[in-house]
Amino acid sequence: MIDKKNEFTIYPIAVLQDNIVWVWVHNSNAVVIDPSISAPVEKWLLDRNLSLVAIFQTHHHEDHIGGTKELIKKWSDAKVVASKKERKRIPFQTFSVDNDDTFNLMDSKIKVIEVHGHTNNHIAFYISKNNMKYNILFPGDTLFGGGCGRLLEGTPKQMFESLNKLNSLPKNTRIYSAHEYTENNLKWALTLEPEDISIVERLKVVQNKRERGLPSLPSTISEERKTNLFLRAKNIEELSILRRHKDNWKC
Ligand SMILES: [Zn+2]
Repeated sequence: MIDKKNEFTIYPIAVLQDNIVWVWVHNSNAVVIDPSISAPVEKWLLDRNLSLVAIFQTHHHEDHIGGTKELIKKWSDAKVVASKKERKRIPFQTFSVDNDDTFNLMDSKIKVIEVHGHTNNHIAFYISKNNMKYNILFPGDTLFGGGCGRLLEGTPKQMFESLNKLNSLPKNTRIYSAHEYTENNLKWALTLEPEDISIVERLKVVQNKRERGLPSLPSTISEERKTNLFLRAKNIEELSILRRHKDNWKC
């Protein structure tokens, strides 16, 4: 129904205050990434007659795993893919993965990229498919539109290395972050770089989308390289200063 041959079909379900549950659809199957809650996701899938084949978990926070238990009651064959180092904090995982693991699902190849910083053992999912001109990244709470995750467990060094890993992906990789933070992040970035035309222009585009009720995402690696101060940070020290500044900034 909603699957187009030469496109990845990925849809947002906006839940809670600013979480986005992404649903990747292929034929009549679906993969859900970080379901914060179950009810709107279940309804979305049932309304479209889709069968849930897997849930990807980027990390253990409740606003990412909160809906999983209910969803696997309904779709008991769905795999729950999570870091094998998080068996305690994501105990219902059924398909445990490690850094650099790859697996096939929905005619695509999925690669696991470990990205410490926001939490320990946070992972990102990178998806590629033959004959596709672009790839897909689900970075969870590591990379946001114009920002990065708070350092709740990791160090600035770990986040710097994680962002470098993601920055080394092809520039047309599409980024599906787990929160709608882009507008806020770009406003903050402009307090430090008020003359930066790329950031000014991106903020306008994002505000226009938000006013029309659309998500600001996906973005791309090339867009983030231009407008995300964290991705532009040249060293750990610079990233650390930016992170502290953002943590203390009030819109
Ligand atoms: Zn989180």
